[in-house]
Amino acid sequence: MAKPVFWKNSKRYYDLKSYWRNLFGCNVHKLPIDAGFTCPNRDGRVAYGGCIYCDGRGSKLRQKGKLPSVAEQIQSGKKFYKPHASKFIAYFQTFTNTYAPVEKLRMLYDEALSQEDVIGLSIGTRPDCLAPETITLLKGYAQKYHVWLELGLQSIHDKTLQLINRGHNSQQFLDAIHACTGRGINLCVHIIIGLPGESDKDVLQTAQSIAALPINGIKIHSLLALEGTALGEMYKNESIKLITKEKYVSLVADVLEILPPTMVIQRLTAEGYRDIFLAPDWAMNKLDVLNAINRELERRDTHQGIYYKG
Ligand code: SF4
Repeated sequence: MAKPVFWKNSKRYYDLKSYWRNLFGCNVHKLPIDAGFTCPNRDGRVAYGGCIYCDGRGSKLRQKGKLPSVAEQIQSGKKFYKPHASKFIAYFQTFTNTYAPVEKLRMLYDEALSQEDVIGLSIGTRPDCLAPETITLLKGYAQKYHVWLELGLQSIHDKTLQLINRGHNSQQFLDAIHACTGRGINLCVHIIIGLPGESDKDVLQTAQSIAALPINGIKIHSLLALEGTALGEMYKNESIKLITKEKYVSLVADVLEILPPTMVIQRLTAEGYRDIFLAPDWAMNKLDVLNAINRELERRDTHQGIYYKG
C-alpha cells in the first residue's frame, strides 16, 4: 500500500494538521479548557485515588486559583494561537468533561460554541461516564458543529485496567463506542504504551482492537512517572521499570502500521508536567521523540496503515 495522497504532510502518518486542512482548508487549533470538572475515579463515585499515573492537580489555571469562565479561556487561547490558526475547537480537557448533569453540560458547551471562530468541540472523558442524554446532546451538536469525543482507554486488557486503577473495564469501553457510533460524533481513543505488566503483544492487541472499531482518531503516549502519584512511588521504590525511548519508538511504529490509514493521529507524545516529572527523561523532548518515530518508519520503509486489515 502506497502512502495515501490525502496525507498532505512529510510524515508517515495522518497527522491532525493534515486532517484539519483536508476538512476545513485552513489551520485549526484545539483550545484546551478547564471547565472545573472532577473525576468519578477520584471522588469515590467509581473509585478513590484515580489512575495510578494521574497527578490530580488539573490544569495550570486551576492550580493558580479561581478558574476563568469557558468564554474567557477561549478568548485568551484565541489571542495566543490566532497567528497560527483561523478556526478553533473548544477542547474540554481537564478531568472528566461529561461528569455533570446534562443541563450543566449544555450550558458549558453552548458557552464555548457561541464564541467567534469556534467551529466545534472536543470532549475528553471516560467510557463509563456517558449517560444516554449526554450522547443525545452531543449528537445534536454534531448536526451543526464538528464534534469529537475523546475516550481514555489506555489498554484493552482488563488485567492492566485493574492494575492501573482505571475504574472501568474493556467492555464498558466497547459499550461506549457502540453507543456513540452512527451519531455523527468523531471518536478519539487515548492509549498508553509502557504500562506495567504489558508485553509487546498486549500493546499490539490494544491497537488491533482499536483498528477494528469505528474510531476516527487516536492519541498515544508513553507512561510517565510523576511526583505525587502512585506510579511515581512505584518508580522511586524501583518496583516498576519505565519503557526506554528505543522500545517506545519501535512500538509506536508497530501500532501505526496496523491502524487504518484514515485514522487521525492526534498525539504521539506526552504533554507538560515539568514541575513534577520524574521519568523517563527522554519523554520530555517531544520533538526528538517525534523525529525518532518518523525515522523509524523511514528505516522500515513503512507507514501508518501498511498492515491494516480492514
Ligand atoms: S480518568 Fe483521567 S482524570 Fe480520572 S483519575 Fe484517571 S487520568 Fe485522572
